[in-house]
Amino acid sequence: MKTMTCRQLGGPCDLAHRGETHDDVINAQDQHLKQAEKEGDEAHLPARKEMKGRWRHPKKSLGWYRQMQADFAALPED
Ligand SMILES: [Zn+2]
Repeated sequence: MKTMTCRQLGGPCDLAHRGETHDDVINAQDQHLKQAEKEGDEAHLPARKEMKGRWRHPKKSLGWYRQMQADFAALPED
């Protein structure tokens, strides 16, 4: 398991997500951003918008995914 924070995934806080793969932490971040939006957390809105845009334009967002994958791979195991 590895840990990536909201901030490492483009968000504004230091909440930690743990997962076996970069997909796990990206999905956890997606849920976290959805929850923040529901709660009216304005600090997370720009990150939420970016994440929404990535689902809509997966090809354009490939660079971001590759970066997250590389960042995740470079992290030490917990
Ligand atoms: Zn956050």
